Amino acid sequence: MDNNTRDELLKLFGSKFTRAMKYYLETCTRCGTCVEACHVHASMGQVRYISAHRHELIRRLYKKYFKTRGKFWPSVGEARVLDDRCIEELYEAAYSCTGCRRCMVYCPFGIDTQMLMSIAKLLLIGAKAEPEILTLLADTSVEKGKSLEFFKEGFMSGIKRLEKDVVKKWKTESDTPIPVDVEGADLLYVALAGAHSIIPAAAVFNAAGENWTLSFFEAVNFGAFVGDPTKTRLILDRIINEAIRLKVKEVCVCECGTAFRVMKQLSGRQPFKVSTITEVHARYIREGRIRVKKIDPGKAVTYHDPCQIARNAGVFDAPRYILSHLTGDFREMSPEPHYNWCCGGGGGLVALGEETLDFRMKSARVKVDQIKATGAVILATACENCHTQLSNLNDHYQMGCEVQFLSSMVADALVKNQSIAEPAMMSSSGGHV
Ligand code: SF4
Ligand code: SF4
Repeated sequence: MDNNTRDELLKLFGSKFTRAMKYYLETCTRCGTCVEACHVHASMGQVRYISAHRHELIRRLYKKYFKTRGKFWPSVGEARVLDDRCIEELYEAAYSCTGCRRCMVYCPFGIDTQMLMSIAKLLLIGAKAEPEILTLLADTSVEKGKSLEFFKEGFMSGIKRLEKDVVKKWKTESDTPIPVDVEGADLLYVALAGAHSIIPAAAVFNAAGENWTLSFFEAVNFGAFVGDPTKTRLILDRIINEAIRLKVKEVCVCECGTAFRVMKQLSGRQPFKVSTITEVHARYIREGRIRVKKIDPGKAVTYHDPCQIARNAGVFDAPRYILSHLTGDFREMSPEPHYNWCCGGGGGLVALGEETLDFRMKSARVKVDQIKATGAVILATACENCHTQLSNLNDHYQMGCEVQFLSSMVADALVKNQSIAEPAMMSSSGGHV
């Protein structure tokens, strides 16, 4: 690595300094409490996958280039030179971490490994060593925001083709079963590309009599997966600007954990609120706007909390409330949801497909044990990434589960307004509230 490149990378490193980041960089006492916290280490048993070990690399660069002792007495200051070998190690650390933040719950100082790995990801981008496909996908999303007129016609005709399937799930009087670009709608639904993310959601909105409209943009934020703050912002702003233009009161994000967390945490003060589709469905049931019937009583159900929706954005009770209406045999996983094991597919790993498949299967063995211990037949979740990873695990480990999207379960269980006894609500700790 030449000096100019190194200087540029160090500028990028410096751009990540916030008060919180400096605290994370300065604070680790190597107490070892996080050793068993990471699913990768717990499943594979290699020291390099301990969370503190991952960020030690970042910390050593910090000591070398930003601390006096590391600059002048590198051997005493535990400093590390930023070179090509270091870039390879940063890749290994960053792209074996799903950003689930389970380690943060265990760390007595709340050190955020995901934040520290965001430095690693930014350095990889600067060194042109990030996974190229994630950058290409992020660029495509940004481009769509700039040239919407070009995409509009194809999008509208694709949506038109889905309408009959929406009506098959829920008959509506409206002649637009999938409304698009409706100014003054109450709710803007941001879906993923693909019918599975649109048809069930549309059926439930129509059943609830929602005044809704579908976003032109897909929810997924590849900028966040690859750790590019500028592209993350541009991809997010497409949706924010659309919501403002249409004057909606609520933006409802589909079953995509990262899209929801980014929208919730980065959109700032806006004239609309941000919800997951899971929260919206729970609200419809609570307010009696939709009714659902129970699924086959012979099928025990468990729920996998997507890390970016539950631990990292606080949505624990809404899915359990929905499930209390869908099943009389809900089996909570152990340990409880705040300490839930990651599925092993986040942080862009699922988006990297076959390239990461072997690692994803090996690194999520503890997740498989956690699911099997429930004895459940239906494994529900509310995130596309998790659904793909859990389906891969189901096949690989022959778990014999049916992996289902929670929103599809709601759509399939819709019934016309009729009297159904209100079950007691389960809390995230498994008790009743
Ligand atoms: S954020 Fe998750 S994957 Fe990353 S080190 Fe912590 S526990 Fe492991
Ligand atoms: S638990 Fe926190 S302080 Fe202790 S080793 Fe892990 S990251 Fe460092």
